[in-house]
Amino acid sequence: MRFYDTLTRDYVEINKRPGDKVVGYVCGLTPYDEPHMGHARTALVFDLLHRFLQVRGYQPILISNFTDVDDKIIERSIQKGIHPLALAEQYERLYYRFLDFLNVKPAYIYSRVSQVIPDIIEVIEKLIEKGHAYATPDGVYFSVQSFPSYGRLSKRSEEDLMVGARVEPSPYKKDPRDFALWKARKPNENIWWKSPWGEGRPGWHIECTVMSIKYGGYPLDFHGGGSDLVFPHHENEIAQSEALMGYGPFAKVWLHSGMLRIRGEEMHKSLGNFISATDIMQRYEPNALRYLLLSVYYRDEVNFTEDSYEQAVQTVNNLIGYRARLDLVHTEGDIREGVQAVIDWGLREFNEALEDDLNSAKAMAAIHKTIGQLPADELDKAEAQELKAFLKYTLEDVFGFRLEKSRGVDDRLIADLVELRSRLRQERRFEVADMLRQVLGSHGVVIEDTREGSRWYRI
Ligand SMILES: [Zn+2]
Repeated sequence: MRFYDTLTRDYVEINKRPGDKVVGYVCGLTPYDEPHMGHARTALVFDLLHRFLQVRGYQPILISNFTDVDDKIIERSIQKGIHPLALAEQYERLYYRFLDFLNVKPAYIYSRVSQVIPDIIEVIEKLIEKGHAYATPDGVYFSVQSFPSYGRLSKRSEEDLMVGARVEPSPYKKDPRDFALWKARKPNENIWWKSPWGEGRPGWHIECTVMSIKYGGYPLDFHGGGSDLVFPHHENEIAQSEALMGYGPFAKVWLHSGMLRIRGEEMHKSLGNFISATDIMQRYEPNALRYLLLSVYYRDEVNFTEDSYEQAVQTVNNLIGYRARLDLVHTEGDIREGVQAVIDWGLREFNEALEDDLNSAKAMAAIHKTIGQLPADELDKAEAQELKAFLKYTLEDVFGFRLEKSRGVDDRLIADLVELRSRLRQERRFEVADMLRQVLGSHGVVIEDTREGSRWYRI
């Protein structure tokens, strides 16, 4: 299995054997507001990786975090008059519900900054001891000069790094590129901890160094996140972690998922195109979202439009319809060689695509090509069984679709209504028969009229 590494700009083989642990850390969200469509994409990309590692026999250990101590959380909690951790928890709970809705497999651990403060203080003390950090009246800073390979991940020039550095100005910084490990408490702030440098709280980047080493060890097999985190966040994580441990690499491979655009534009509340988790759970169907967000190679940008969503719904319905028609196959027979060869090809193509830097677009195409060559009506029972296993593996286990529809309407009632519709058609009362088909359709029941009569399945 190989992956494209953002750091070396090259492919890196994951040298693991089945049964081995594969430890990865994926930066999570800052719970100061609702999660959104961008979070869905990142979560789904790393869920696909998580699932694929699992079905290939590895033991994935996925670690993620909530940045529950942060400027924006403090600001919002003061506005709302609630404790910052209570505010964070509210959005964390919403995020868990969102992950469940999207059928994302839970990570090994979701750690919060507020749970690892003593570990963070210990690590900062070590960085100071080693000469990689210094204390000032407004906090502790990491000394970028003490880490010569700074800038390797983002490939930024020194000039660019200086521009980035102005975001966090301080009169006490020795170098404008230096960044805060610990921030001294400001008078209005409502959350702080005691430390050797006075009351305060951690800066943003140090938490990921601390949590990844605490829960995952060193080095990580992979480190992931959205591509917007490459600079400064991941650049700073590398500097802190490698300075702390005295050797690299911090992560054997860096995986960055591409950004999400809405109708060609970046998603912003100010542009009125912000799609929150609550909107998503009310308006969209999780299988179709998974299809839309995962049928694009993870490093590429995804453009979300209502049209592309409708297309995804259609494609998913076709896939589910195909799967449902396999249940209607009753012809006895053995698996023909030609059919087996197509399924074997599909499976090989699917696995090879994902083993080659998680090429989900190519893997999805392999599913379509396989079933496109094998119309359900032309199969016998043994062949249908084999294809059901193929679809369970590819669509359910790896792509995380839920193919089994909830049985909201009783089977016998459907059978009676389908029978009633047939009688109406015999009496040439087509208008009423069509109304009945529409009603059943709205409950996910599809009726097909064949020479042997009407049959139905759920989508
Ligand atoms: Zn991080």
